Amino acid sequence: MERCQRNPGMTEKFIPVADLRKRPSIPVIPARATAPVGLLADSLGRPLRDLRISVTDRCNFRCVYCMPKEVFDKDYRYLPHADLLSFEEITRIASLFVAHGVDKIRLTGGEPLLRKNIEELVAMLAALKTPDGRPLDLTLTTNGSLLAKKAQALKDAGLTRVSVSLDSLDDATFRRMNDVDFPVSDVLAGIEAASRVGLGPVKVNMVVKKGMNDAEILPMARHFHGSGAILRFIEYMDVGTSNGWKMEEVLPSAEVVRHIGEAMPLEAIAPNYAGETAERWRYVDGGGEIGVISSVTQAFCRDCTRARLSTEGKLYTCLFASDGHDLRALLRGGYSEADISGAIAYLWQGRADRYSELRASQAEQQARRKIEMSYIGG
Ligand code: SAM
Ligand code: SF4
Ligand code: SF4
Repeated sequence: MERCQRNPGMTEKFIPVADLRKRPSIPVIPARATAPVGLLADSLGRPLRDLRISVTDRCNFRCVYCMPKEVFDKDYRYLPHADLLSFEEITRIASLFVAHGVDKIRLTGGEPLLRKNIEELVAMLAALKTPDGRPLDLTLTTNGSLLAKKAQALKDAGLTRVSVSLDSLDDATFRRMNDVDFPVSDVLAGIEAASRVGLGPVKVNMVVKKGMNDAEILPMARHFHGSGAILRFIEYMDVGTSNGWKMEEVLPSAEVVRHIGEAMPLEAIAPNYAGETAERWRYVDGGGEIGVISSVTQAFCRDCTRARLSTEGKLYTCLFASDGHDLRALLRGGYSEADISGAIAYLWQGRADRYSELRASQAEQQARRKIEMSYIGG
């Protein structure tokens, strides 16, 4: 517990954010670079397959588990525009990652649809091809607030699919969780628009926080049963340091599956690909599938193929990392594609992150400062 700065007589659970964004780390450019042949592996043998790109650190929501108002208030300092990677810079870095084996790119944030002309970036990334000539799987995660307006433009620009975050169907609970009084009906309209224009199957992500929205599990399952959308339940995670995370507030995915299965029988199904974060279950009656993402109770680090690029161009090799590697410094420092490609390879080959696997055994892991989810994206 920390003393509340505005009201020193009070204790509060929100922890001020240490500004980890400012710790610079210029990547090493190795004398002998690994050629980009799409076969990069880290120190634990994990390939590089996914790149998540945060396009803004701003958001129009203040979800209690991600950007609590007490920390992300009017005095919070977001990154100045000049610090953000331009669309050209993002595309340049993304193309180097694709050459090293990335075939899946997800745009995230903050709220990615707040980034002006985001569809232009989508079009630039959609033009990239894997070394064997395949198009990328290009997706975007959004809170859905602007999706009804933007869905067609995103589809036309070449986006493959969207994931929409929605934590409750009950309007009062939803407004409490987004903490900006945003109505659930607008997000549902966004999901419908995305399906209608062909951005489906839409994945609907629900973070379950015990005591806050666990009563919504079954209503959400019933609503999306048979709709074509894939509802995924995400365990509330200890990302960042601002949300005052407690293990007691995590509802294990096994309980979610048991709870839904009692009402609507489920059977386990195989993953779509190695390293898929969600464990898949299907309704026995043919009403579609759900997924559970058990980042806390069942770590999946051994299959983690994800790299993350922050809004201002730092590469993070784990969601729970404290430090990023400043690729923007290389981009703006006049380094060649070969140099930057070599630096990316060198960083990935040295990667040994497995925070979630160590979480339970190492209390100090939890205590150390970590980057915020709103900064690096999901
Ligand atoms: N604003 C967009 C959205 O909400 O979809 C994209 C960024 S958001 C950081 C990406 C995902 O992270 C969302 O699905 C959100 O629910 C999830 N998320 C944020 N904080 C979380 C936490 N503490 N535990 C689990 N998931 C979290
Ligand atoms: Fe914004 Fe997404 Fe974080 Fe909610 S989860 S505060 S919508 S970035
Ligand atoms: Fe990957 Fe880090 Fe999450 Fe493990 S804790 S699955 S290494 S992002």
